[in-house]
Formats: sequence, C-alpha cells, structure tokens
Amino acid sequence: MGRLAQTDGLTDVQREILATVREFVDKEIIPVATELEHRDEYPTRIVEGLKELGLFGLMIPEEYGGLGESLLTYALCVEEIARGWMSVSGIINTHFIVAYMLKQHGTQEQREHFLPRMATGEVRGAFSMSEPGLGSDVSAITSKGVREGDEYVLNGQKMWLTNGGSSTLVAVLCRTDEGHPEGTAPHKSMTTFLIEKEPGFGQVKPGLTIPGKIEKMGYKGVDTTELIMDGLRVPADRVLGGTTGRGFYQMMDGVEVGRVNVAARGCGVAQRAFELGVSYAQQRHTFGKAIAQHQAIQFKLAEMGTKVEAAHAMMVNAARKKDSGQRNDLEAGMAKYLASEYCKEVVEDAFRIHGGYGFSKEYEIERLYREAPMLLIGEGTAEIQKMIIGRRLLEEYRIQG
Ligand SMILES: Cc1cc2nc3c(=O)[nH]c(=O)nc-3n(C[C@H](O)[C@H](O)[C@H](O)COP(=O)(O)OP(=O)(O)OC[C@H]3O[C@@H](n4cnc5c(N)ncnc54)[C@H](O)[C@@H]3O)c2cc1C
Repeated sequence: MGRLAQTDGLTDVQREILATVREFVDKEIIPVATELEHRDEYPTRIVEGLKELGLFGLMIPEEYGGLGESLLTYALCVEEIARGWMSVSGIINTHFIVAYMLKQHGTQEQREHFLPRMATGEVRGAFSMSEPGLGSDVSAITSKGVREGDEYVLNGQKMWLTNGGSSTLVAVLCRTDEGHPEGTAPHKSMTTFLIEKEPGFGQVKPGLTIPGKIEKMGYKGVDTTELIMDGLRVPADRVLGGTTGRGFYQMMDGVEVGRVNVAARGCGVAQRAFELGVSYAQQRHTFGKAIAQHQAIQFKLAEMGTKVEAAHAMMVNAARKKDSGQRNDLEAGMAKYLASEYCKEVVEDAFRIHGGYGFSKEYEIERLYREAPMLLIGEGTAEIQKMIIGRRLLEEYRIQG
C-alpha cells in the first residue's frame, strides 16, 4: 500500500475489514476487470465473493444479520473496490441505498421482511427515480400510483436503473395524489414503493417489464436498464414507511449517503489512475531517461497525488460527519463534486502519461478513461451539487439586516 489516501483513527475492526477487501480487490478483481469490462460481462464470481465477505450487509444492523458498520467503513470499502473496478462498486451501491432507506424509513415489518435477506445478498436492491424526461428535476416525476382497495396500481416509465435486471427489490418513486389535494407541492405528493421482482429481462411479473440493458460507453458489466410499469399491482403495505407523500424525502436521504459513496468511487478510480501513471512513468524512457525524470511529468504526478489526497480527506470528512449524527449535505455535496472532478482530471493525466498506449485497449487506463465521466453525472450532476453547496453556504453565512 502506498502513502496516499491513508485514514487516521480507524479501529482494529475497520483496519481488518479494509485489509481483507483490499486483498480481495488485488487478487479477484484487478486481474479480471478489464477483460470482463470489454466483454460487458456481469461479474458473477466477484459478486459471490462479495457476498461471502458480507459486503452486502456491511451497514445493515447486526439484529438483521448485517455487520452494523459505519458509513465511513462502507465508504472506505467502496473506495477499495472502485480502485479495482468501478462497476463492482455500482453493484453494491444501489443495494446499500435501498437497505439504508429501509433501515431509516421502513416499517418494522418491512425491515424484518427485507433486511436479513439483503444482508446475505439474497435480495438485491435497485432504486429508481429518473425517467426518460427527467433526472435532475425529481419534482417533475410523472409515474403514478393510484390506490385500489388494498393495492396500488402503478403506471409509468423509469430510466437508468443501475442493477435494474439483476436486482430483486426496486425502490421506485411515483406520484400519489391520495390524501394530497390538488395544488400540493410536488415533493409532498410522492411515494416510494418497494417492488419485489424476479431478476432478468422482459416481463418479470404482470405489469412490470425490464426491457434490456442500455448500451453504455463505460461502467460496463453492471446492468443499467429502463423499467416499465403498466398496471403493476403493489400491495399497500409495500409503501415505504407505510405512509404516502414521504417518498421525495426518503429518496433524498438515500441519495445523500449515496453521494458519499460516489465520492468514494471517485477516490478509488483516481488512486488506481495514479498507481498506473506513476508506474508507467518510471518504465517509459524518452530522450535518454525515464519520463518520470522530466519535470513536466513529475509535475503531473505531483498534481495527481495532491488531488487523490484532497478528495480522500473530503470524502472521509463527509462520512464521519454523517456517522456522528450531524447533517452532512454540504460536506457530501462538496466531496462528491470535488472527488468526481478530480477523478476525471487524474485519469486524464494518467492517460496522457501513457502516450499512445493509453489509447490501446491493452492498457487499463483506457477503461478508467471511459468510466470516470459517469461519476460527473450519477447521484446528481456537478451543477446540482453546486446548487446544493451554494444554497447551504448562503444559509450558513447569511448576513443580518
Ligand atoms: C450509468 C448511469 C446510471 C444511473 N443510475 C441511476 C439509478 O440507479 N437510479 C436513478 O434514479 N437514476 C440513475 N441515473 C440517472 C442520473 O441520476 C441522471 O442521469 C442524473 O441525475 C442527471 O439527470 P439527466 O440525465 O436527466 O440530465 P438533466 O437533468 O436533463 O440535465 C442535463 C444537463 O443540464 C444541467 N442542469 C439541469 N438542471 C439544471 C439547473 N437547474 N441549473 C443548472 N444546470 C442544470 C445538468 O447538470 C446537466 O448538465 C443513472 C445515470 C447513468 C448515466
């Protein structure tokens, strides 16, 4: 392990978990990641290994069979995994968000029903807000649930579900008007439905279709899909928390921890890019010396290392803030924004260091170059992060009078 991105003050348990995950990443993920990614193949063996390590239940409380670890432990594990292959961290991320939402907002029955099987990875979570016509503007959601007796009938189309095909439980945000008169603010008339389904594609249950994988430039291996609800019937007791009208807040709570997670992914990918760059720079010779001895390349390495270090520190700070029970939307927004921008820059510098070989599919940096941009978009774009950060700063620094 190198000197960068160390975390002070970890417990023995945290250090042990991280060492195990790092070993798994080095042995089981890095050697196969690029090949699987080029084939866009789902990493089934890796996922089985993650189950054995207990990673699907890392933050699920012990009473439900999980390891009951903190957001910091989780984020540091994600950082390690993304260092190996970002797509694998995507497989865990939506699962983690849904488990977190159940833990925070679910009814007792919902927690008991889902969390033990989520802890083992038997039930796997996906979450769905985005639609073909919206992503940033969640308040514009058009998918709708209408109550009929003991059920809700859901209609609408969803877009960009990470793990849409492989998951068996999807938390879907829909509009529900019941109990909310016309004119109610959009975010107060939204409800999260917990939809159980079979994994796979096509019609996975009556009224629910997962059409197929969306072809992507990167972030391959993990399935990203649409979801079509056409008269889908969901029992009323599968409204998250049992009460309609709370979905927007529940989802935003989930996305907030998800942002720390995306920041951690940015840190992991940037670390890997740095490792690849610093190694290649010492092997490639031009004009009679290793390119690492040219000051221009040394400066690049200096900038890259500084960015890796800064992003890691902000990500750790955001996770610790949440773990201490404090509001962390400002820190999570800043960490996500900075880590994803720095990740893209560090990856680009590592790519440049590789010269023409960076453009060859034989070199790992080619894969990282196609993966880094996803972090600029997922869990809220840079513009949306800046809106959150700006508003919060104005709240904190409001002048009197
Ligand atoms: C690979 C992948 C996986 C994803 N997985 C999931 C998932 O699992 N679940 C899910 O629900 N969604 C998922 N998403 C969707 C993702 O959250 C959205 O793509 C993202 O929120 C941006 O929304 P959009 O694509 O509709 O862009 P838009 O909202 O249309 O934005 C387009 C551009 O306009 C800018 N913009 C928008 N509004 C403003 C404003 N007010 N001020 C300034 N600029 C603005 C944006 O920053 C962006 O640059 C995924 C997306 C991708 C690419």
